[in-house]
Amino acid sequence: MAETIVHHTHLEDQHRPYRPCPTCARLFPARGPVHRCVETLVGAGELERPYFYCQVCRTGTSPLDAALDVGAGRLQRDVHQAAVDLATEVPYETASTLVGRLRGSTVSSERMHTVTHQVAAGLGVVEVAPSREEMDRRVAQVAAGRFRRPVLGLGLDGAYVPSRPESARGRRPGQARHRARRARWRHEWREAKGFRFYLLDGERIVHVLSWHQIYNEQELGEALQQVKDAHLIPEETVRLCVIGDGAEWIWTHVQALFPQACQVLDYYHCAAYLHKVAKAQYADPLRAQEWTEATLTRLYLGKVGQVLGGPRRMQPTSDEALKAIDNCWVYLNDHRRRTHYRTFRRGGYPLGSGGMESANKFICHVRLKRSGAWWYEESSNQMLALRCAKYNGTFEQVFTRDQHQKADA
Ligand SMILES: [Zn+2]
Repeated sequence: MAETIVHHTHLEDQHRPYRPCPTCARLFPARGPVHRCVETLVGAGELERPYFYCQVCRTGTSPLDAALDVGAGRLQRDVHQAAVDLATEVPYETASTLVGRLRGSTVSSERMHTVTHQVAAGLGVVEVAPSREEMDRRVAQVAAGRFRRPVLGLGLDGAYVPSRPESARGRRPGQARHRARRARWRHEWREAKGFRFYLLDGERIVHVLSWHQIYNEQELGEALQQVKDAHLIPEETVRLCVIGDGAEWIWTHVQALFPQACQVLDYYHCAAYLHKVAKAQYADPLRAQEWTEATLTRLYLGKVGQVLGGPRRMQPTSDEALKAIDNCWVYLNDHRRRTHYRTFRRGGYPLGSGGMESANKFICHVRLKRSGAWWYEESSNQMLALRCAKYNGTFEQVFTRDQHQKADA
């Protein structure tokens, strides 16, 4: 059916006798007709069209291909897009099987790897971020009918992902005569650092922008800077709030880039410190529980001064207790201005970094942490970039960009 439609709607392109060279404008006669087969999601189809070659400029074109937006190679963009769409959700092998089942002919998992790498190459945070107009639209939706500006949470955190070192790259599979019986490299867990902007709509979270990569703190700072420089964050129409744990790098970047943002120390990380103190200090579990609950309540009510006073008056019962008390006190004291939980609650700010923890899960963990999967840094970063694009709502846009780049090349 598709062949018939093409045949009837592009008659002129199929029977064009002459065509001027796009570069030198000399007229050249048609060669052919030349056959080619293309595969799209509607199936395989034959194209028969004239081909024009300029011997002076040494370039050839098929106007019908351009008219139909048919790319080089047999598999067309819609198939590629479907393949990458699946490969960013499930392992390549599974994705390959699924594509086969859904469209009747398979795309090999090697091909899926190649296409995924091609599309993801060079993606940065700005390429996968929604446009400012889209950001404004999401903010306006949450702000509708509200008295106060909506809270835009910014969570920063790291998630460990299974990695393999570059040194694990041996000969290509095709060249190896035997499969190595045992891997000669040691796997490692590396930290994918990320940030997520999300709007709080009552109990609901409205996703705005995520970016996760395996890189160092400085590079994370640079990515955040790019977001700011591209004016993607509508700072005037939201109340920006940063939630993080005690990691120093988080607050350094935040202070530099968004100095006006409300800073919140994750309440549940504080709780963990207090639990440690109680466990080390009190032999009686009931007393430990009583102390923790009382202290957490004070913290929840924003009485950080009282909370800090507690451990100071404590007589440590062991070296371990002394250490736990010390750690806890330093932690709370360093971040005391980020622990005004009563004020935060009244302002509608989040107390915990749950929004970020869940991004770690749905962006990094569900795809990268698979039985037996150990990723090269480059591959995991590409996969993360594509998954961010998906959740940011820019997956389609990333494909269009890839297409334009190929056309420019
Ligand atoms: Zn020419």
